[in-house]
Amino acid sequence: MRYYIGIDLGGTNIAAGIVDSNGKIMIKDSKPTLKERPTEEIIEDMVKLVENLIKRCGIAKYDISGIGIGCPGAVDNRKGIITYCVNVPMKNVKIAEYITSRTGIPVNLENDANAAALGEYNVKGRGANSYIFITLGTGIGGGAIIAGKIYRGFNGVGIEAGHMTLVHNGDRCTCGKRGCWECYGSVTALINQTIEKMNANPSSLMNIKAKKIGKVDGRVAFEAAKEDDKSAKEVVQQYLEYVTDGITSIINIFEPELLVIGGGISKEGDYLLEPIIEYVHKYEYNKYCPKTKIEIASLMNDAGIIGAAMSCVK
Ligand SMILES: [Zn+2]
Repeated sequence: MRYYIGIDLGGTNIAAGIVDSNGKIMIKDSKPTLKERPTEEIIEDMVKLVENLIKRCGIAKYDISGIGIGCPGAVDNRKGIITYCVNVPMKNVKIAEYITSRTGIPVNLENDANAAALGEYNVKGRGANSYIFITLGTGIGGGAIIAGKIYRGFNGVGIEAGHMTLVHNGDRCTCGKRGCWECYGSVTALINQTIEKMNANPSSLMNIKAKKIGKVDGRVAFEAAKEDDKSAKEVVQQYLEYVTDGITSIINIFEPELLVIGGGISKEGDYLLEPIIEYVHKYEYNKYCPKTKIEIASLMNDAGIIGAAMSCVK
């Protein structure tokens, strides 16, 4: 059995794990990123995580075939350089060379959403000739796996589905453009849509639910809608339309065999999935051929670690 190490570099935590060649995590650990400190210290903590995992797992170093790193932003996969990192201030960092020099293990670098896409693919998508993974979270991320390989595009980023335009001249996005899908279909957007409706309808059950948990999160509208609250149902209906508009466009462009939805909101399960499938299948261009399968992700937070690790499999 060969083993691989996956590192998921996030704005809050650096998560890492040893993964076997079947995509199963043997052991995992994490450290806070503390992103404002010097880059060298962050990378040194990644090396320490790797060394500790190897020690704790009791696997010989030569049984580990590679270290995969998923980074939020643009990476040069061929040169192993972080071109530009979102959330963690890193620019033109030769991370692969450094970590290999410290550990003696080859490093493969991927965009984090592409790594997560590959992680889910290893669990749910194996065998699918074309596969799209979408995460609905703070933003909208995504990745494409074509014929079993990550689609990296020209510069290593691959698909950035969250930044396709949904509303011309719409809300301002973090990327600088207006009207991106992310501004309407992310959980951040759902929270804003929920707050707006709560303010307009103070007697809505959403206000009671939010008060109970002390904040407005992505669940408030969904939970109140399940209890038949009219305003909440309107929020959920509108949100689902935004989400499905984006998914329909992706399916029209890629015609994937399978599309998997991950991120925090995917915990809503069939309540989220069933209306999406109904709407997408009604409005997608393809009316006569077999339909794209749409499913909910199964790995949640481990997708990044597993995908980064599996990106090293030759
Ligand atoms: Zn954008």
